[in-house]
Amino acid sequence: VELMAGEADEIDAYLRRLFPLARSITGEPNRQSLRVLQELIPLEVHEIPSGTKVYDWTIPDEWRLHRAWIENSSGRRLVDFACSNLHVVSYSVAVDRWMYWAELAPHIHSHPQLPKAIPYRTSYYESNWGFCVTAAQYDELARETRPLRVLIDSELFPGSLTYGELLLPGTSTQEILISTYICHPSMANDNLSGMLLTAFLAKHLLKKSKLRWSYRFVFVPETIGSIAYSALNEQAMKKIDIGLVVATVGGPGKFSYKQSWNPLHEINRLAEASLAKLEEDFDRYPFDIHGSDERQYSSQGFQINCITVAKDRYYQYDEYHSSLDNLSFVNGSQIEKSLTIYVDLLERIESRRIFDCRIRHGEVMLSRRGIYPKRGGELLPNTNDYSELDLTLWLLRFCDGRRSLEDMSLELKVDIEVLLKIVEKLTHENLLYEI
Ligand code: ZN
Repeated sequence: VELMAGEADEIDAYLRRLFPLARSITGEPNRQSLRVLQELIPLEVHEIPSGTKVYDWTIPDEWRLHRAWIENSSGRRLVDFACSNLHVVSYSVAVDRWMYWAELAPHIHSHPQLPKAIPYRTSYYESNWGFCVTAAQYDELARETRPLRVLIDSELFPGSLTYGELLLPGTSTQEILISTYICHPSMANDNLSGMLLTAFLAKHLLKKSKLRWSYRFVFVPETIGSIAYSALNEQAMKKIDIGLVVATVGGPGKFSYKQSWNPLHEINRLAEASLAKLEEDFDRYPFDIHGSDERQYSSQGFQINCITVAKDRYYQYDEYHSSLDNLSFVNGSQIEKSLTIYVDLLERIESRRIFDCRIRHGEVMLSRRGIYPKRGGELLPNTNDYSELDLTLWLLRFCDGRRSLEDMSLELKVDIEVLLKIVEKLTHENLLYEI
């Protein structure tokens, strides 16, 4: 945690630079954002051409927005994209004409609960256009009895979808996936906080001279980007067991984590252990088909156990998907606090020791090998009242080449040193071997 000292200010500086960029699922602001992140980590930036088929989806045309506004008949600008890039529904097609309020109204969105907020709306896969406004702007527009001049100067053209990738090789080729999304415009928690935390997390790993596991960092537009990425890297992705999907990590509120599709998978216990170190209350959300890119990474063909540790998780805070999710709501020190949890979790993941058992069917015959522990023998300290025999049998059952000793230690509530002693014995007997 001491390593993090001073990073809050640096994160704040990056927040201020990246916040104004009008990101979407494609486009120049995404490239600009990734270029800024390249100052922190050696991200490789890739482009996937529009029209490319990726599983059941197709990479859409690229969207470019030059300017957009609504003026009344006396030339007063009532809504202007230049004031907030949430004012225009993302992927709006071009419009340039006069219309009465009655015709315009279905294209104007205000926030159902927060009058001061500009809501965030998109229309990626349906050709449409629209503006998002505050309640006051909505009322002003609705009072106009004369036609209004509506301009959206946008282009949709065959271009490409941009994503960033960083592969950090370790001693083992077994990879850990760390993914975040880069498609949201000016909103700080969802998901600029996630982009920055992920970059700082990668920076942290880059400082290490040696890694046990390999790490795959992915910066993609949500949904279409993670589907495309998985399609382009299918063989590698199918081998991944653990993933972290970094989203909404910068709010002032409570920590939480979303469980992986298999709630018994060790990544959930490791996350709980990291969160417990905070000594503050946190929420636990079961896996759900709604959410972020874990929807793709844990789909049938991949089944990666992804978790999301969040601070003010998406859906759960009032300012979500609105202009009030801004730099008053999010700051560098809040993101830094989440970063310490992710760093702790990565330390746990990184230090995992995994053993496999050579005997896969039925129980090992201990007595034949002379390693059946003597009954009433000395009970080692910190064993949670398990006898050596109990622990020997549990270890032989647990060691499946995937599950770590750290996880067994958490589940059995037995010191890892105690388990390691027994593992040594079983390794000596050629029953276990380290992955
Ligand atoms: Zn979102």
